[in-house]
Amino acid sequence: MTIATTTVQRDYYEVLGVPRDASAKQIKDAFRSLALQFHPDRNKAPDAQEKFKEIEAAYAVLSDPAKRRDYDEHGFASVAGIPEEELLRHINFGDLFGGLNFDFGGLRAGFGESLLDGFFGRRRTGPPRGENIEVELEVALSRVASGGEEQVRYARVAPCAACKGSGAKPGTQPRTCPDCQGSGRKVTQSRRRQDRGEVRVQSISVCPTCDGRGSLIDHPCPQCRGSGRATREETLTVVVPIGVEDGMALRVPGHGLAAPEPGGVAGDLFVVVRSLPDPRFERAGADLWRTEPISIPEAVLGATRRVPTLDAAVEVRIPPGTQPDTVLRLGGRGLPEFGGGRHGNLYVRLRLDVPQHLSAQQRELYEQLQRFEAKP
Ligand SMILES: [Zn+2]
Ligand SMILES: [Zn+2]
Repeated sequence: MTIATTTVQRDYYEVLGVPRDASAKQIKDAFRSLALQFHPDRNKAPDAQEKFKEIEAAYAVLSDPAKRRDYDEHGFASVAGIPEEELLRHINFGDLFGGLNFDFGGLRAGFGESLLDGFFGRRRTGPPRGENIEVELEVALSRVASGGEEQVRYARVAPCAACKGSGAKPGTQPRTCPDCQGSGRKVTQSRRRQDRGEVRVQSISVCPTCDGRGSLIDHPCPQCRGSGRATREETLTVVVPIGVEDGMALRVPGHGLAAPEPGGVAGDLFVVVRSLPDPRFERAGADLWRTEPISIPEAVLGATRRVPTLDAAVEVRIPPGTQPDTVLRLGGRGLPEFGGGRHGNLYVRLRLDVPQHLSAQQRELYEQLQRFEAKP
């Protein structure tokens, strides 16, 4: 089993550090300050270039209402194949940076360059490309903490293995269509009468002999019945980075859908990582939350409690006089942050458990307490 090479794609809203319902202005402001901070001309940190590309891609998508809607609904796969020229055209650099006292010429070149070979690196010309696909991978919190290999199982339309995508029975070749000489088109000419005599009209239609494919298959591949494509189930091992954020995508080049025509390039696979629900904790970024019920006597008198963490359970002291919904903070007991050495915290929310059914003895004690409290 080979391990897939992946690049990590963070959620675009995370990248710009804006909420999912951010306004256009919030998005623009966030992009401007991040771009100035991470532009490779200004920032010499080794990862600045990567960061900058990420910021650019996020902005290109989120600043365009149609692309943003697409991304909200369908995730990375819907927007990752957009040609870079189209994205670049959308970003108005003059509007963004024109008012700043800044090396504008240099920046402009920088933007263009990095977009060309960046995340959206795909030339408009060149071989036809298959679509990107997106699958979800649920990983346990322990895996988020440790990082490491996980298996992804998915089905995709890939070139048929038997005929290598040609659609012809192995050992035979497709034949060039004699009616269109392989062009897949049929040109017919007719003459039409007009006021000043006749005009020649050319009409181009799909070649009916080959259905536009340009070739004929005399002996279809029995495996795919001549389509050249097959749905194949694949298992892939990907490496989950430590602290992977919810919604981050691991991009696996070439594992998307097969190209629509032979000779093309397959699309990419995006493995979107989601945290597996854990009965012990709720995840909020790198922080973990847990609710711990405590009784009235425990709240009043104080207590100690063993609380699970990602490692071993720890003893937590509940101080006397604890109020309902008090939150205890266990520093550094959360998840590691993505890309940094820091750890989040574990927060324990103390929920006061008020008994609904009392034994006779308990009732008597509570009544005693009540009489006592009622005294002036
Ligand atoms: Zn086949
Ligand atoms: Zn033809």
